[in-house]
Amino acid sequence: MSVTFEVLATDGAARRGRLTTAHGVVDTPVFMPVGTQATVKALTPDALETAGARIVLGNTYHLVVRPGHDLVRELGGLHRFMSWPGAILTDSGGFQVWSLAKLRKVTEDGVEFRAPLDGSLRFLSPEGVIEIQRALGSDIAMVLDECLAYPAARETTERSLALTRRWAERCRAAHASGGDGQALFGIVQGGTDEELRLRAAAETVALDFDGYAIGGMAVGEPKPRMYALTELVARALPAERPRYLMGVGKPEDLVESVARGVDMFDCVLPTRNARNGQAFTGEGTVTIKQARWTRDAAPLDAACGCYTCRRFSRAYLRHLFVAEELLAYRLLTLHNVHFYLELMAAMRAAIATGAFEAFRARFYARYAVSSLDVPLDDPQRSEA
Ligand SMILES: [Zn+2]
Repeated sequence: MSVTFEVLATDGAARRGRLTTAHGVVDTPVFMPVGTQATVKALTPDALETAGARIVLGNTYHLVVRPGHDLVRELGGLHRFMSWPGAILTDSGGFQVWSLAKLRKVTEDGVEFRAPLDGSLRFLSPEGVIEIQRALGSDIAMVLDECLAYPAARETTERSLALTRRWAERCRAAHASGGDGQALFGIVQGGTDEELRLRAAAETVALDFDGYAIGGMAVGEPKPRMYALTELVARALPAERPRYLMGVGKPEDLVESVARGVDMFDCVLPTRNARNGQAFTGEGTVTIKQARWTRDAAPLDAACGCYTCRRFSRAYLRHLFVAEELLAYRLLTLHNVHFYLELMAAMRAAIATGAFEAFRARFYARYAVSSLDVPLDDPQRSEA
C-alpha cells in the first residue's frame, strides 16, 4: 500500500489534511517527535501513542552507524525493531553528515565522512540512502541533499542547488525501481535567496515526488525571513502533495508555518529541552530548576491533560530534576510531546471549522514568546 494524501479543508493558506500510510492514518498538520536512535528518548511507544503521536522521525545517519541498517532489516525493519506501530519518516542522513561528521568530502558521487562514534570512514550516495531507508522500511523516505551553512554566497548556493537537483534525480530513479509502497519526498533548498528558492521548488516539483520538504531553514537566518521564505516556497508547491518544514521548531514557528500552508514538522526541541529542564506550556516556557517553583503545588500547565500535569506539581518536578532523577526526564518529555501534539490537534480543529485566525489570536493572547529556549540554529537536529 502506498502513502496517499488528501486535503480535507483549508482556512486561508492553512490546510487540514490526511496522510494515509501502511502504518495508519496521520492527520495533518502534524508534528513528528524525533526518534534518533530508534527511540524517542525517555518514552515508550505506548506513551507516545497515548500522547497522540501517529508518526515519528528516525535519523538514518545514527542508525547506519549503530546498529547498522542491515541488522535492522534482519530483525524485521525499523517498525518491528522499535515496536512502533505507527508511521515512520526517515531522513536521508545528509543533514547529520553536514552537522556532526568530520572530514567530509563531497563529490558528484556523494559524500564521504568519518563517523565520530567509531572513527569509521563511510560514504553516502543518492542510491545508497535510498537502499538504506528501504532496509529500515520507513513509510516515508527522503532524498539526499546538500545542506548549506548560513549565510552562503549566491554562487555557492547555485552550485549546491545544482548538485542537490542531480542527487534528487538519482534518488528518484533508484527509488522508482523498488515499488514497495514507500513514499519519497524531495527537498527544496536554496538558502535565503528568493529567486533560487523558487527555482529549486520548480526543479524539485518537476521530478514529481510524493511530497515536498522545505530544507535549510532555521539555520540562523532572522525569523521573519524564515517565515517569508516558507510562505514563498509553500505557495510554489503543488496543493495536492504534503509539505514538510524540516527541523522547525518552537510552538510559535509551528503556528506561523501552518498559517503559511505547511503540513508536517519535526524538531528535537520538545524532547531535548525536556531533558534540559525546560517545559513548554500554553503561557510560554518554564525552566523547572528555578527556585521560584520550590513550593509550587500547581501542575506545569493547568490546561494540559497529560499524565505529568494530572499527577505532579512543579515543586515535585523541580525536585526530581535538581536531584537528577531519571523520572524527571521522562515526565518532562511526556508533557512536552503532549503539549506539541495537542497544539497541532487544536490547529487541525480550528482549520476544519474555519477558525484558524481566532485560534492564532487566542494562542498569542496566552503564549509569551521566549528567547530563552535553546536556539533554533542548533545544527544537530537529532538526539545524539
Ligand atoms: Zn502536561
